[in-house]
Order: sequence, then C-alpha cells, then structure tokens
Amino acid sequence: MEDIQKQEFTSSFDLFVRKERMTVVAGDGAANKILLSNNRRMFEVVPRYLAFLTRSIGDRTDIDENTILDLFVVDQEWALVKNYKAHYGNILELEDVPCPNKDCRKTSDHIKNLDELEVIQLPEELRDSEDPTITVRLPRSGIMATVGLLTGHQEKLLLSQRAAGKFDPNQSDFQCLRELNGTKEFFYEDVVSLPLLDHKVIRKTRKKLICGYNTVIDLECPYCGHLWVINFLSSRDFLLPAG
Ligand SMILES: [Zn+2]
Repeated sequence: MEDIQKQEFTSSFDLFVRKERMTVVAGDGAANKILLSNNRRMFEVVPRYLAFLTRSIGDRTDIDENTILDLFVVDQEWALVKNYKAHYGNILELEDVPCPNKDCRKTSDHIKNLDELEVIQLPEELRDSEDPTITVRLPRSGIMATVGLLTGHQEKLLLSQRAAGKFDPNQSDFQCLRELNGTKEFFYEDVVSLPLLDHKVIRKTRKKLICGYNTVIDLECPYCGHLWVINFLSSRDFLLPAG
C-alpha cells in the first residue's frame, strides 16, 4: 500500500460569519470511520470528522477538534454543506426516510438540490462583523444584555445536556449571552434569576441572529401526503453519502 500516492482533492470556501478561507479534502474511509465510531452521538463525532478533513482555516494549518469547536456553529454547518457540495455534488438523496405518521410509517426516498437551499442573512448592520452581537435592554430587570452566536464548544455542552435528558432553556440563554449588566463576569445563577419576560426577549434576540444555510427541509410522504420537516445535517445520507 505504501507506493500508492495519496491524491488529495481539496476545495476552498469562505466561512459565512468569520469570512476566513477554509480548505477541506474529500472524505475517505478513515474519515467515515470517525463518524461511525461506536457509541458516539453525531454531535460528538462531527467536529472531529470536520477537523480530519480540514487542511486550513485562514492562516492556521494545525487544525484539531478544538479549532473546529472554536468556530461558530453556523460556520461549522456552512463548512459541512460546502464540503458535501464540493465532493459529492449539489444533489442530496435521503433514502428510506420513515414517515412519522403513525398510521403509515412507510419509508420513502427524497431528493434535495442543495443549490436551492435558503441562505439566511444576518441583519444588514451585522453582516460585516466577525462576531455579530445584539445588545438589548431587558424589559423587566432593566439591565443590558448582549447576545451572540454559539460556538461549537457551547453547542456541544447544550447537546450533551439534552442527550442526558437535562434540557434547560436557562443554560442556552446563559451560553448565548456575552455580557450581562455591562460585564462579562456573570454566572448561570444570574441568568436563572432573570424574570421570564427578560428570558423571552433574550430568545427573541437570538432568533435575529439565526443565519447561514437553512438546513431544515420539508418532506412529503408519497403514500399518505403527511408533511414534516427534518434537519438533514444529522442524516446519515448527508454525512455518509458513499458510506
Ligand atoms: Zn406516510
């Protein structure tokens, strides 16, 4: 095997928020092995998988799982879709998707053209920022709160809590807050003690920062006409199209 020269097919694109150039290689059996690691959930293996495929981000070439987790979640997702398009083309085929209608449950195949995916833009005034944030005055407590995008580290924490059955909306509010009452030094308890109306405003503000590819797609069952949505990012056909 030694004399087989490994040829790398690379592709490059700019990250959506951070705008840095990222270069990735096509996945291979070794990359797929990471995704298929036993007893691992997708959110645990995807950053490692992406790190394995990434050759550079901006000037950095020493890429590991932490470099990927340092990215905003939206940029990680952006990279996954760009990587798929570069190496597998713009057509995503979802096979044997079970219909969620209890009376049907038949499986069907679905095709999505990734070139037609909606790209959600940030509000105009935030588009040039490498770290877009929105600062609002919370209506009940009257204190100022600065809301930003989640990084991979933060999302990993939230998803592992959720996987352990401990979903806590206070925790997601805490993670997205950059500053509270003019300081970066605040605690989870400070967020928990905010009035409900303030939490509502924090969540509304987070929604204004949703951007990048809209990876939630509509599906329709060809047998019973049931309509539902899925996020294809975690689907096996997206992550392992040749696997
Ligand atoms: Zn059906």
